[in-house]
Amino acid sequence: MPTYFHSTRGNADMLTSKQAIRQGLAHDGGLFVTDDLGNRHVDVESLQGGDYQGIARQILGTLLPDFNDTELWECIDAAYGSQWDDPSITPLRQLGDDYVLELFHGPTCAFKDVALQMLPRLMARTGYGVPDDANASREDGMRTASAARERIMILTATSGDTGKAALEGFADAPDTGITVFYPEGKVSEVQRRQMTTQRGGNVHVCAVRGNFDDAQSAVKRIFGDERIAADLASGSHVRLSSANSINVGRLVPQVVYYFCAYLQLMERNAITAGDEVEFVVPTGNFGDILAGYYAKRLGLPVARLTVASDRNNVLYDFLTTGTYDRERPFFQTTSPSMDILVSSNLERMLYYMSDGDSDLVDSLMGDLKHRGSFTVPSALLSRIQELFGCGWADEDEVSRAIHDCWEHDHYLMDPHTACGYHVMRMQEQAHERTQEHGSAKTRVLLSTASPYKFPRVVGRSIGLNCPDGDFECMDALAQATSTEAPDQLRGLSDLPERFTDVIDIAEMPQYVIRAANTLS
Ligand SMILES: *Cc1c(COP(=O)(O)O)cnc(C)c1O
Repeated sequence: MPTYFHSTRGNADMLTSKQAIRQGLAHDGGLFVTDDLGNRHVDVESLQGGDYQGIARQILGTLLPDFNDTELWECIDAAYGSQWDDPSITPLRQLGDDYVLELFHGPTCAFKDVALQMLPRLMARTGYGVPDDANASREDGMRTASAARERIMILTATSGDTGKAALEGFADAPDTGITVFYPEGKVSEVQRRQMTTQRGGNVHVCAVRGNFDDAQSAVKRIFGDERIAADLASGSHVRLSSANSINVGRLVPQVVYYFCAYLQLMERNAITAGDEVEFVVPTGNFGDILAGYYAKRLGLPVARLTVASDRNNVLYDFLTTGTYDRERPFFQTTSPSMDILVSSNLERMLYYMSDGDSDLVDSLMGDLKHRGSFTVPSALLSRIQELFGCGWADEDEVSRAIHDCWEHDHYLMDPHTACGYHVMRMQEQAHERTQEHGSAKTRVLLSTASPYKFPRVVGRSIGLNCPDGDFECMDALAQATSTEAPDQLRGLSDLPERFTDVIDIAEMPQYVIRAANTLS
């Protein structure tokens, strides 16, 4: 039976996974979901002894069934090859009584590489031999004939890590361009240089005056602007698409490492098949943790998924009260990739946890848009709370977590991961108050970035006297901890900066149109 993707908000278009990946966002503003999730299972034991690529083949084949075996293997071999500096792609390390799953061994040293090395490869295989959208059959032959020459402009707003990971994934991809906007002054020096030094003839990088949410909202408006879409389609045969974590093609590859973590735990005899495991996930846009939910729906024994937030604790408030309220101060913290007020992928979780109630999702999202907040029915909140835990860390707590983890376990972690580490320690304290020792489930903390992406925060937290520049800081950190800075970060200081534009939010549509015109 084919799997169809449709909007979380009730739009009736039914798309294949290829079409959903190509389109990115549904026409009514909803996210693509399939009602097939939960009907298909992946047998964990059958994956035993396999490598990351083999697990990926199983998961991707299950969740994206209209890609054939050859296509999937081509994508997997190209996405998870020598650009990773660890052969297991996402290695698991022991950390006291817990485990940490390192997701930062890819080319940009953040977890987004896992998905963004894959998405461009999937995208490149969505354009041929299929109608380019669900309405194609209603249109004339000209449209279908020109669909083969259609080019795609990837448009992304980034709070730091997505932009670079997307640039690296899409650089020089055929028939594709990429435009990345980042909030000026709100990403680290390393993050900024990662983007401004990007190689590739099809890449555009621009700073905007505003915060990440301003930039992301503007990008969403551009996607929703039918006049821009029509101009680009007729003028330069360009279609806009998204690499943000709302794209199905980004979400699905992230499901793989939950299985990979579980299998590594089995290999170490930390668990036996069927044992339930908890995951603690540093969270921003809710993509990473949602992939854990998908893994559970595929049959992975997941007892609990804990959302770890930074001081922008909108998800903590939602998960404890049932009210999601974006009307609150925005804090710029030491974990910029989690500085988010509107957590887009939450919409998919609401869809699934309400058993596919798209009317409810549509009305909640309407409330969020028009009133700045929504409240879920209390029965739904209880269901959500049974599976999703939550916690958050302020910046002092983040700093202390980095320090304590280094002191106790000699493990260096970045500020995003440290939010999760702090939440784990808080869970333990709560647990000790209510239960006896030894009954806790195996816990895995997802580590989302290399500590060397944020050398200043990490260095200061462990008590170093940090030199002025981020790169000198990396050297000091390496020396003090006898660890090594990844080449792809340390080497950035020698590369020329190619992109220096800074624009206002209002200028973004024009910038996109100009960038799109360079594609044809
Ligand atoms: C993107 C990112 C996160 C948040 O992940 P979401 O999928 O947006 O919840 C956490 N940490 C780092 C380092 C990131 O880059």
